[in-house]
This record gives sequence, structure tokens and C-alpha cells, in this order.
Amino acid sequence: MMSGDIASAPILTYHSISNAPGPTSIPPAVFAAQMDAVAESGVAVAGLDAIERWLEGKERFSRRTIAITFDDAFEDFAAAAFPILKKRGFRATVFAPTARLGGAENWSGANAAPRRLMDWATVRALAAEGVDFGSHARTHPDLTTLGGAALEEELSGSRRDLEDQIGRAVRHFAPPYGRSNSAVREAIARHYSLSAGVRLGEARHSSPIFDLPRIEMHYYRNIGLWRGFLEGRGGVYLQSRRAARSIRNAAFRAFGQGA
Ligand SMILES: [Zn+2]
Repeated sequence: MMSGDIASAPILTYHSISNAPGPTSIPPAVFAAQMDAVAESGVAVAGLDAIERWLEGKERFSRRTIAITFDDAFEDFAAAAFPILKKRGFRATVFAPTARLGGAENWSGANAAPRRLMDWATVRALAAEGVDFGSHARTHPDLTTLGGAALEEELSGSRRDLEDQIGRAVRHFAPPYGRSNSAVREAIARHYSLSAGVRLGEARHSSPIFDLPRIEMHYYRNIGLWRGFLEGRGGVYLQSRRAARSIRNAAFRAFGQGA
């Protein structure tokens, strides 16, 4: 860590901004209140490119800095999230499962009433407006169940799909379900420069750049808690969420239920 630098940078995880049920939808009014709190707190919002340079020690941040990411490229990002981000000048990265765009979520763990994903015209329009896109694989599989050519196609194919459409280099990845193992991370590293997982925590210089922790925003629907987090007072609550999550994950494993 360089002097005048921060110790950690939270990378926020969102999915759908809508009133759909479940932990992967956050109501537009709650999202707007969370972003208002960011603006009022004086916390800076950086793109993942800047976070990557910071992680590599090539850039320093003089004040608390966050990045904002959206998994799955839900269609509601365009109408519900982007105007709120744009108004405040906040950058964001959308991780898109490229072979599913223009359709609806249809993967294991999807909502019973599938939410629509954005189509390529929307991806291109948002990219032209300055939204960053990363890959969330092609078909949203659990990458740890794949190997060889199938894994390769999910990783290199999705990057090619995005680069062909938006005409920009795509260097950032988020594995579906946050699931990876050392073989998957080695494969990701051949195609991308950074990968964001779902371990709960703030990114630090010591964090593995191919399995960066993130902050699941489902836990911060309460705006009072969220303001505390922005002021750097979120440590105890975060620890309690992390503990609850590891107990739940252990129970899932014990009963053979996948995440
Ligand atoms: Zn996903």
C-alpha cells in the first residue's frame, strides 16, 4: 500500500433492479436511495479498470472508493439502473452471459418467473454511453463442472461475442454463481486480467485478482446500515453476514443442495 492510499475498495454486486421476488432483485427505489447515499457520502466511484490499476499498485486512491457491478445483464438495468447511475456520473460494469442475451434467465437457480436479459442492441447502446461490459461466460454454467474445450468456449467465446459487438477490449470476468476452482481460475487468467467472485468482503492489494471479493448489495437494503458501510463502519455487520453465509453454505453442502 502506498502512502495516501486506501486499504480496501468495495466492489458492489447487483443483479436485477426491479420489484421481482428474491435476493437477486433490488427495488428501484432502494437502488436510488443507495446511490444517493454514495453521492452524499463523498465516496468516489471508479471503473473496474481503475480498480485493476489500483490493485496492481499503479494508481492510488486518496479517499474511500467503490466500484459498481451488475451480474447477468438483466434488461431492467437499462431502464431502472442506468438513468440513476448516469445522473450521478457513476461508472458501472455489467457482466453478461453472452449466449443468453435477448432471452431470459433460464439457468439453475433462476427466478420462477424468468426475468428478461438485455439484447445486443441495448448492450451496444449502453456501451456507447460509457457502461463497461465484462463476461459472465456464454451460457451461465457452473464452470467448475466443465473442462477442456467446453470451458475454453465459455471463456474465450463470451469475450469474442462482446468484443465483436461493442468494438472494445473486454478484460474483466465474473464466473456464474461466483464458482471457480484453481483450474477454472487458471483458464480465466488466459483470457482476462481480473475476475470478480462472490466471497463477501472488500478488495485489497492482497486479494487474489482472479477471485476478488465483492459486497452483495442484498445485505444493504437498509439505508442506515449502508450509510455506515460507506463511512467505513460496516465491519462487524459484514462479519456477521459472512458467518451466517458460511453456516448456510455448509448446510447446503451437507444436504447436497447446490448454490
Ligand atoms: Zn449470474
